[in-house]
Amino acid sequence: MFIEVDKKSIKKIALDCQSRGATWHYHLFSPTCRFNTKSQFGFVVEDRTNNTMYISYSSKPMMELGKELLALLHNVDVKKSNTMESNLSPSSMLIAKRAQELISKGALWHHHMFPPSCAYNDTGKWKIALEDPETHTILESLSADVPTSDLQVIESLYYSQTSIG
Ligand SMILES: [Zn+2]
Ligand SMILES: [Zn+2]
Repeated sequence: MFIEVDKKSIKKIALDCQSRGATWHYHLFSPTCRFNTKSQFGFVVEDRTNNTMYISYSSKPMMELGKELLALLHNVDVKKSNTMESNLSPSSMLIAKRAQELISKGALWHHHMFPPSCAYNDTGKWKIALEDPETHTILESLSADVPTSDLQVIESLYYSQTSIG
């Protein structure tokens, strides 16, 4: 399913997708992620235009690359201050609240952003999903359009972590 590449190449592939105007996105897999078949961290780039999926494995999560590509894809800057009062959808509010709760306990977590084109998304909508590391349930938020303000809040919480679980 995946073409496995090194860390340098995964970044190059993402930047190349962006510069040729491809439909693409990325995922970070933690070792416990339900999509991850290995015990390492995985960084996935899906080139939907060429219908190809790439993965790069590492012993630490590639969070800097995630931040960089988030800004490129969605113009979301996690350093920008944000408050919970911004226009969050009710389901994204639940995700953000749970994320804050986990952070305050020191529990590592991760979420995914699934565009409609994603290989892991058959809803036809944009989907944000938090994989709860304690309850082992999935908190989901669906939207017809790219949920930029939801992402601003949830991604900022996510990148306030130094690692993910
Ligand atoms: Zn996951
Ligand atoms: Zn995807």
